[in-house]
Amino acid sequence: MPTQPSSAVEIIEKLHRYGAPATISQIGGRYFGFVNGGIVPAGLAAKLLGSFWDQNAAMSITSPVVPRLETIVQKWLKNIFSLPDSTVAGFVSGTSATIVCGIAAARYRILKRQNWDINKKGLIGAPPIKIIAGEQAHSTVVKAITLLGFGTENVDFVKVDDQGRIRPELIPDLDSNTILILAAGNVNSGAFDDFSKICKKANEVGAWVHIDGAFGLWARATKKLAYLTEGIEYANSWAVDGHKTLNTPYDCGIISCSDENALVNALHLAGDYLTLNKNREGALYGPELSRRARIFELWATLKSLGTFGIDQMIYGFHERSKQFANELSKIEGFTILNNVYFNQTIVICETDQIVERVLNLVQNDKVCWASGSLWNGRKVIRLSICSWATTAEDIRISVDSFRRALLLVKNSSFL
Ligand SMILES: *Cc1c(COP(=O)(O)O)cnc(C)c1O
Repeated sequence: MPTQPSSAVEIIEKLHRYGAPATISQIGGRYFGFVNGGIVPAGLAAKLLGSFWDQNAAMSITSPVVPRLETIVQKWLKNIFSLPDSTVAGFVSGTSATIVCGIAAARYRILKRQNWDINKKGLIGAPPIKIIAGEQAHSTVVKAITLLGFGTENVDFVKVDDQGRIRPELIPDLDSNTILILAAGNVNSGAFDDFSKICKKANEVGAWVHIDGAFGLWARATKKLAYLTEGIEYANSWAVDGHKTLNTPYDCGIISCSDENALVNALHLAGDYLTLNKNREGALYGPELSRRARIFELWATLKSLGTFGIDQMIYGFHERSKQFANELSKIEGFTILNNVYFNQTIVICETDQIVERVLNLVQNDKVCWASGSLWNGRKVIRLSICSWATTAEDIRISVDSFRRALLLVKNSSFL
């Protein structure tokens, strides 16, 4: 920590000189790692403008433009995802935070129905809540559950099928004290749970269904892939990212919830100094008070694409994924393990060791970048197409890089 001030120009120059080489070039068309989205230019520009304004999005009095845009975007998203009329949205940092919000709302509602006010009485001595999730639930689902005071031993992790989908016939009996967490987009395979079957059953008994739709809920925004999310409208809360499939800048998650009262009470915020008016107060719909006005870039991204552009962009991810899977499967030595329902492809080679060496060579070839993962005990390469910038040509030359890598590994293993 320096004791003396430095000039702003010097600081920025230094950051650029030393920082830039240590960044990852993930906004181009050949970054297939994790499920990291690209960035739509209008969204980036809106973020920059918003940065210069440096608004505190907490309340309407601290930034009148924020609740206006949040109200508009809440309505747009409700339409894009065809969610129930009563649905409200909170704008938070990412899906990790949205899952905490959704499960907190579920916990509030379930206990309130039994005359137990969690805000006053806390969890100790509270009526039991049953939590059910697929055994491949994302790590952030488990984190949210533990953060909210439910231990993992209290969660029923249900077996999944060969695509990672929860097996409906193995879900224990649901009741009105159940929180059931389903996945729209398995993080490895991109598969979707059977919402039609499961959500209706949950509805009948009053169980709360929370959807982890970090990247997959966006399938609902395309005509040709919306079928994957059929029945999802019967859930109670939905977690989704802007910064993955929608290609907003980072730090953009949306919690949607059809029970406004439960959401707002769960994220309860009260203080005499807060001036609330009848219009939207963003702080009520998320866990924070002061926060960045991330709605600027979400609004700009949606407006820049329009529903037509969103449909086209996301369906493009699917087409590029199919192309990647098809072209790789034609090369002897690569096998695709999943059905490419959406934008994720799981690739293996003959052995775990070959997978590791191929992945390493591909990463060092610097034509594209992909990450490894574990799938049913095997080392795999996971390809996620998540950027508007990815073209068919990008896939073609990336496949060439995979082909070269495999050939090198095979040739060297004969030595
Ligand atoms: C990325 C992801 C998350 C976590 O989202 P963040 O935006 O990284 O907090 C949760 N669930 C799934 C399925 C994901 O892909």
